[in-house]
Amino acid sequence: DSLIEVRDLERTFTVRRRTGGLRRRATTVHAVHDLSFDVPAGEMVGYIGPNGAGKSTTVKMLTGILVPTGGHLRVGGLEPAVQRTELARRIGVVFGQRTTLWWDLPLRDSFELLRKIYRIPEPTFRANLDRFVELLDLGDLLYTPVRQLSLGQRMRGDITAALLHDPEILYLDEPTIGLDVISKGRLREFLRALNAENGTTLMLTTHDLQDIEALCDRVIVIDHGTTVFDGPLAELHRQG
Ligand code: ADP
Ligand code: ADP
Repeated sequence: DSLIEVRDLERTFTVRRRTGGLRRRATTVHAVHDLSFDVPAGEMVGYIGPNGAGKSTTVKMLTGILVPTGGHLRVGGLEPAVQRTELARRIGVVFGQRTTLWWDLPLRDSFELLRKIYRIPEPTFRANLDRFVELLDLGDLLYTPVRQLSLGQRMRGDITAALLHDPEILYLDEPTIGLDVISKGRLREFLRALNAENGTTLMLTTHDLQDIEALCDRVIVIDHGTTVFDGPLAELHRQG
């Protein structure tokens, strides 16, 4: 069965818009509706669509930040918004456009804080830290404050941070945005190896189809809040 189960998922927002003068009218925005898909463990899925399509609303529901207004959602058997703490121990999240690390702290101190927050067992923490620092070439940067890191270095720091507790699922939001070609290539190579060696399920939102081409078995396209395509990238190309 599936690690991620999404059935007829819905999220609406009520927004009050000025209609002239002091009047405000409440309108309902259907950010996500009739959304269904399954992700089996170990898959690498791309989640794409135009701005405003509903990608971040979906990912916020999958990670428990936002409560659905309708439908069914399970991640690893958990209901994300209700079991957010349990879920947090099983998922990792990386945002290309912002860091989850402490800006003024050396990288190593951020990792140490995460160890305490997530109560990562010491042997797991050490093994993962050694492994990812080596693989992502962060050895010389462990004592550098995050604000002094380049975008690519910070990204590698964020990825390490997201993997220290051995998550089953890694969500990546625009992971290669702003990176040069070499860094993009190395990052994609790393993610492929992670999936192959650990069986980590990857779900990534991106505007870079080369990310999808390099990484994803499958691509889900969302538009106006609902799925318009679900299948291999090659098939999407054929459909034009
Ligand atoms: P994407 O990530 O694909 O760019 P979003 O999920 O951010 O799309 O947004 C989907 C739609 O929902 C957009 O119309 C957006 O304006 C709306 N939306 C998202 N979050 C909110 C919110 N907190 N309040 C009102 N509308 C929102
Ligand atoms: P991200 O989705 O990467 O967090 P965004 O710039 O899309 O960043 O949105 C920033 C915040 O504003 C999010 O919490 C999102 O839910 C909210 N938001 C997005 N669109 C709207 C909107 N139309 N009205 C109110 N809040 C919104």
